[in-house]
Formats: sequence, C-alpha cells, structure tokens
Amino acid sequence: MSFDKLNIIDPILKALKHEGYVTPTSIQEKAIPLLLEGKDLLGCAQTGTGKTAAFAIPIMQGLYNENKPASKGPKKIQALILSPTRELATQIGDSFSTYGRYLGLKNLVIFGGISQKPQVEALTRGIDILVATPGRLLDLINQKYIDLHNVKYFVLDEADFMLDMGFIRDVKKIIALLPIKKQSMLFSATMPEEISKLVDTILINPSKVAVTAVSSTVDMIEQYIYFVNKGNKRALLTHLLNNKNIVSALVFSRTKHGANNIAKHLIKAGIPSEAIHSNKSQTARQLALNNFKTKKTRVLVATDIAARGIDIDELSHVFNFDLPEVPETYVHRIGRTGRAGLGGIALSFCDNEEKKLLAEIQKLISKSIPIVDNHPFPLVVEESTEVKAIPQKAINSRPNSRNFTGRNRQK
Ligand code: AMP
Repeated sequence: MSFDKLNIIDPILKALKHEGYVTPTSIQEKAIPLLLEGKDLLGCAQTGTGKTAAFAIPIMQGLYNENKPASKGPKKIQALILSPTRELATQIGDSFSTYGRYLGLKNLVIFGGISQKPQVEALTRGIDILVATPGRLLDLINQKYIDLHNVKYFVLDEADFMLDMGFIRDVKKIIALLPIKKQSMLFSATMPEEISKLVDTILINPSKVAVTAVSSTVDMIEQYIYFVNKGNKRALLTHLLNNKNIVSALVFSRTKHGANNIAKHLIKAGIPSEAIHSNKSQTARQLALNNFKTKKTRVLVATDIAARGIDIDELSHVFNFDLPEVPETYVHRIGRTGRAGLGGIALSFCDNEEKKLLAEIQKLISKSIPIVDNHPFPLVVEESTEVKAIPQKAINSRPNSRNFTGRNRQK
C-alpha cells in the first residue's frame, strides 16, 4: 500500500514525499479513507503509531477542498485539536506545518505557562487550525479572543491522558462550545470507562480503528531488567552510560526531585545531561528538548508527564530508573525508543520494593523480561522468585532496523 492509493490530494502527497514517507502506517491506512468520507472516528492508538498524520491529512485535505476563494476579513478557526501537553501540542502543530507545507493553511499552537500576547496576536491575524491545551484555550475563550463557532473538525487527542491529568472537566466545557455539526475524532491509547462515556457524547456513529494493543507494541524493543539496590541506582546508571555505544538515552524518574538529582549526578560524572519536568518553565523544557534532539546533551532525564509525547526518532535507549506505578506507563515509556521503524533498547532498574511492579508489567506484556545479572551493583537482598532469569544479552549495540507497522523511512 502506498499513499497514492488513499485519495490524498497532490500537494499533501508532495509534502509526504518531501518527508521521506513511503508507506502509510497501519492507522493511517485504516483511518484516512474513513475520515475522508466524513465519518467520526474512534482511534485506539498511542503516539508512535503515526496517528497525527492519520487525522491531520484528512482535516487539511477537507479544509483545502472546501475553502472558497478567500472571503474578506481574517481566517476563522475551522479545526480544533485538543492535546494534553505543551510538548505534544507543539509536535502536532509541527506535523500540520509539515504535511500542509504546500496548502497555504495557517495553524497555531497555544498552551499555558508562557505569555498569551503572541498567541492573541496570531489569533487576531486569523488561523485555520488551532492546536491547544485545554487550560489556555478556555482562558482565551473567556477573554473573547477565540470563537469556536466555525469549527468543522474536532480532535480530542490522548483522551486517557487528559483524564489522568484532570483535564476532563475543561474538555467537556470546550466540547459544549463547539457547533453540533462537525466531524469529530477521539484518540486514546487505553479506554477507561470515563473515556468510553465521553466517546458516546462526542462521536456520532463512529468508525473504530485500533492499532496494536498497548501490550504488544513493545515486541520490537529489546528489554532488560537490572536488580539493584535503590542507593546504587545512580552508580549503575553512570556505569552503563559510560558505554559510548549509547548515543542518546531518555531516563525516566518517578519524581521531579529525583529527575533533578539524577541529572546532577550524571553531569558530575562527566555525562552531558538535562532534566525536564513540569516545575521547569516552558522555555527551559523546550531548550532541554532541543539540546537533546540535536545531541548536545546525551541524556535527558524526565518524569512521565514531561516525557509523554516526546517524539525523537533516533532515540536508542530508554532507562527506567524507577519502575512506574501503572504498568501501562512502562509500555508508553519504552515506546519512546523503537520509533519510526527503528529498534531500541529499554533497560529497567528494579529494587526490592519494585518487584511487585515488575510482576505487573510482565503480566501486562505477557512475557518475562530478561535479567542482566553480571553487573557491578547486584541487589543484596533476597533474589526475586517472581521472575525467571534469562541469560544476559549484549546491550552495547543498537539492534538492526526492523520493520514497524509497515513504515519505511527513506531519510
Ligand atoms: P505520531 O504517532 O503521529 O506521533 O508519529 C510518530 C513518528 O512517526 C513521527 O516521527 C512521524 O514523523 C513518523 N511517521 C508518521 N507517519 C509515518 C510514515 N507513514 N512513514 C514514516 N514515518 C512516519
């Protein structure tokens, strides 16, 4: 299957070619035709599946085809995309710009934590597509800078994450302000009951598209467990990062404080690192992310909230410095590597108290994660009986590129 078969208009095909995309991903192949027919869509998919293009392409195609010769006055918001985090919103905005580079449509990304002035100025000049986090959107609606009456396309992205972050009330308020007649899309990696209820209120007779269940997306990522005492985790991390084959690594910490400490420790050990979490300013977070993407810093230490949606195509290693409390989070975390068809390696540290969490993760992904037991900081309490040791494999080389959801990169 190629993009040409999906009835996509030439200027978008040209942009996709420009990006080096050859084959649509599974969600793109399934969702684009349905959305081009005007159907509402429920997408069970997480970031990394190509879902942004799956909704951005049909929306832009619709707007491009419908737009009559420019009427007088500034452009009106015709598409609204709600995103839970600033990082994700920025990435969605970038995707619209990329796939729509030959269309002449205007998009704007708005989120809180920074001055509203440039956002208000851009809104006044007029835009077609608005990507927003719920808080800042409501704020600007209340100040009468935003009018949603002309919205024809609405996307609620990462709905389960909106719920986790306590944004659902704001989301409902926003939905109540949208015109009844519109095409709606809801994407969520998981479907907790509250999201299922929301689906019934937002979507009309939706088509459903699910791509690889959360628990199976991890298959192409090599995973290993290191049993280690809590107090030795930083030393073990430094030891492992001394391996120069690890080009760039994302380290997950459960707490903001922990993230800061880990980054400080690594810097002291001569490993260029930065921490990102929600206590840092938007500018500081964006700067840290850019430094990481451009490989100025080798290690980014992040909390789950800060890291959700971070999209770095060539991230070779993910470290779980702490195991997450919610097993699904493990899958989301390690999914930061192995993106866009490349393999990846996920190394997780597990202290004695975390063994229960490990058991839950292994249950979710239906496999036991190989244990690396010949490292310099072995756990000095009773060994786990819950997990079966599997001989160690080398961790110092990146696995060969593997095909992933039919995605072929030609960059
Ligand atoms: P997303 O799930 O939308 O966050 O996309 C994940 C990554 O896959 C992004 O870096 C996209 O640029 C990339 N991507 C999306 N669709 C394709 C495609 N058809 N071929 C190659 N890469 C893609």
